[in-house]
Amino acid sequence: MMLFAAHAHVCLDLDSVVIEDPVSWFFPQLSYLYKIVHMCYRCRMRWCPTSVLHLLRSARLRLCTRRGRNRLPLWIREIWAYMRLLVQSLYFNSLTDSDVVFDSVFEPVFWTVDYVTRWFGTVFVFLVVILTSSIVGIAYMVLLPLVLYTYSPQWIAWHICYGNWIIVMIAFHYYKATKTSPGSPPTEKNDAPFVSVCKKCIMPKPSRTHHCGICNRCILKMDHHCPWLNNCVGHFNHRYFFSYCLFMTLGCFYCTISGRNLFLDAYNAHEHFKHLDTEKPGVPVTGDLGLLVGLLPSGQTNRQTPAPVYSLKDKMVNKSIIYMWVLTSTVGLALGALTIWHTVLISRGETSIERHLNSKERKRMAKEGKIYRNPFDYGRLNNLKIFLGVEKRSHWLTRVLLPSGHAPCGDGLTWDKFPVKKDLIPV
Ligand SMILES: [Zn+2]
Ligand SMILES: [Zn+2]
Repeated sequence: MMLFAAHAHVCLDLDSVVIEDPVSWFFPQLSYLYKIVHMCYRCRMRWCPTSVLHLLRSARLRLCTRRGRNRLPLWIREIWAYMRLLVQSLYFNSLTDSDVVFDSVFEPVFWTVDYVTRWFGTVFVFLVVILTSSIVGIAYMVLLPLVLYTYSPQWIAWHICYGNWIIVMIAFHYYKATKTSPGSPPTEKNDAPFVSVCKKCIMPKPSRTHHCGICNRCILKMDHHCPWLNNCVGHFNHRYFFSYCLFMTLGCFYCTISGRNLFLDAYNAHEHFKHLDTEKPGVPVTGDLGLLVGLLPSGQTNRQTPAPVYSLKDKMVNKSIIYMWVLTSTVGLALGALTIWHTVLISRGETSIERHLNSKERKRMAKEGKIYRNPFDYGRLNNLKIFLGVEKRSHWLTRVLLPSGHAPCGDGLTWDKFPVKKDLIPV
């Protein structure tokens, strides 16, 4: 308190101090500092950093006041200060950093991309339904009759059972993946722990939650936004998305492998008749017509075997088989790679977003000589079981190989209640 009183005294009385020194004649500001030093000496103040700081601060304030006294009228300076405050209040944010500035500058670009993706989501879903339905239609109208006519009863039973099972699994999981909400953090007050605050929603974000710009909300355990589902893939529909990818891949490979010989026959037939079609016009010099125009020698007739008839139905069947094989083999390869990648991620206990975050964190800690451990990794097989909801042996059949609407483990808000002990999932 004494020290503070001394500072206040110095601040108030500096102007009243009269010191005769030649410097003050030429450099008034130096004279002011000289006064401060003199006062300190006279008051026998200790040269602690705090006292120096207070003295310098008071000197700076007084100097600024003196310097600005003769510049502009007070009312102009007040208006100017008010305007500055007004402008700064428009963009000031205590959380402002390079990320916020980057987001603000590119906001129009992000908005356009999000808007277009949102709009195209409906188109993509329509495309998936149309393309899948067309393949199913071809399988029923073209492949099934061929199978019934040519295959043995055992193979007929296998194709009918496997084909229909795949169709049911694909339709069920696609419908559930598009219609199930991935889950969002609760908007009302709750006791769930959170790790950060979403800058867009201005809401607490639980662990593994991320904001989706296309859905314009935070998503629990967000994996990615899928335009083919027109929905985010998150905590509550991640399994449906994965199962859809898996069974669609199996269905595509089934069509590709079982339809391979049909495709080769259809392709060869199509190429053969296309070749004949191009030769048909402009070759009328056979048979009697050749004799009439004198192109063939007398007594020689050219009675060729008539070309097989390539009806419109044959043409459509061959084109359908070619279309089905090309589409299913292409989608099978692309979706197969995606399914394998997601299987690897799930077995590591990571989402697609966490893959990048964990990789960054792993590198950062490796530089410090530490090893990063994913807190959501319970072991490869356990991760898959937790993800698929397999708690006992029969669940592999009822929850994985048959359509099942069971809820995922946990509520998506907390992640410390999982069966970490291996004996809790002995399957
Ligand atoms: Zn958010
Ligand atoms: Zn989304």
